[in-house]
Amino acid sequence: MNKQYAVIGLGRFGGSIVREFSQMGHDVLAIDRDMEKVNEFANIATQAVQANSTDEKVLQSLGIRNFNHVIVSIGEDIQSSILTTLLLKEAGVKKVWVKAQNDYHHKVLEKLGADRIIHPERDMALRVAQLITSEKIIDFIELSHEHSIVEIEVSDKIIGRTLTEMDVRARFGCNIVAIKRGDDIHVSPIADVTLQRHDILVVIGRNEDLNRFEEEGV
Ligand code: ADP
Repeated sequence: MNKQYAVIGLGRFGGSIVREFSQMGHDVLAIDRDMEKVNEFANIATQAVQANSTDEKVLQSLGIRNFNHVIVSIGEDIQSSILTTLLLKEAGVKKVWVKAQNDYHHKVLEKLGADRIIHPERDMALRVAQLITSEKIIDFIELSHEHSIVEIEVSDKIIGRTLTEMDVRARFGCNIVAIKRGDDIHVSPIADVTLQRHDILVVIGRNEDLNRFEEEGV
């Protein structure tokens, strides 16, 4: 087995991650202390094992330190989540991503050196709220609290214009990094490309600049 990914806790979130990995063709070790969960994932994960992840010896016997990336998705039992994270970092697992249940949980995980802390419902709610309140933005990736990449469909206002004419960098301080046209994507588009109906601009920049571009530029 190519020791890449392990998921500990096969509830709604952890279970969904195992399914995604499996569909993407990645090897994944699925771990839960509940045998019913293990059986549910026996045919989905590369390997599904019943184990208590708060037991250091059990983690050792699974060779957990050889995995590149471990996702801890234990929500309800915060104590187990914390202890598991501690053991994984002590074992030297490079990337430990952990689902947090609340702000206190988040703080402790941060102190323990969790490499990424995820709040699935909160993160998704933020995403949906942002997409709903912005009429033009089709999708976005938050790069940091201040920077994002957004996808915006061109409007009548700019159809037929070139990137040079729009002068987005000078006027708004953001950069058009790609144009999606049907199934094609033109990365680093040339400046004299003429925008067509249904083109989607992929734009990177500071959030406030992107907002201004969305309001005034497209
Ligand atoms: P979700 O909200 O994503 O459904 P849950 O907190 O309900 O997540 O699910 C957590 C899963 O983690 C459960 O299936 C539970 O059996 C498992 N789990 C909890 N503690 C441990 C542990 N110490 N070792 C292994 N699995 C655990």
